Amino acid sequence: MDYKKQYHNYINKIMIGIGSIIIMAMLALAIFVQRAQADKQNIQSGICTDTTERCVAITFDDGPNPKSTQRLLDGLKERNVKATFFLVGKNIEGNEDVIKRMYEEGHLIGNHTYTHVQLDTLNVNMARSEIIQTNEKITEVIGQCPKYIRPPFGAYSDKLLSEINMMPILWSVDPEDWATKDIRAIVNKVTKNIKCGDIILLHDIYDTSVEAALEIIDILQSQGYIFVTADQILLD
Ligand SMILES: [Zn+2]
Repeated sequence: MDYKKQYHNYINKIMIGIGSIIIMAMLALAIFVQRAQADKQNIQSGICTDTTERCVAITFDDGPNPKSTQRLLDGLKERNVKATFFLVGKNIEGNEDVIKRMYEEGHLIGNHTYTHVQLDTLNVNMARSEIIQTNEKITEVIGQCPKYIRPPFGAYSDKLLSEINMMPILWSVDPEDWATKDIRAIVNKVTKNIKCGDIILLHDIYDTSVEAALEIIDILQSQGYIFVTADQILLD
């Protein structure tokens, strides 16, 4: 009798043990499958799982333009997006209101030389004057001197920029928006290849680029991307 009781107890313990192991294994499997699915979704939509790396910057060169830049600023405001503008010095006069608005609405303003010139084709004094003159014009309008420059065509001298205390900001995604009127093509080129930490290059002097920019923002925001000014990407 006692043997039977002991035998039953023994079997019960084994069954409870096996049952517990099965339940734990099933729980572990469920968690694993759920995580794998979440990772797959994140990878497909381009969202980095690390929130600190989920940022992109959208930047606009060659402006300002009284019409298309205002339209862009309206769209950025509606979407609560901060962008970066690299201004051409000779376009500043007559567009002071647009630039003040950029500044007041939290966008970053940088230098794109005075006459949109390739800096490494000039002698040092002329190159320096292209940058300084533009900085002075911007400072007159917003009361702050730009720290960042986007050198036209990406050409610059480290020595000159460090002498005048300017930091270059280049780009990592270039849909060549200036070469086409096809808004869809511009949007696709950017959204198909985007990754966290990218700096997108566009030009706010074309209506088509402005339309494309706002579509790009809508698509990327729906995928969880956060838009920051280009200096934030550099600092990360
Ligand atoms: Zn340019």
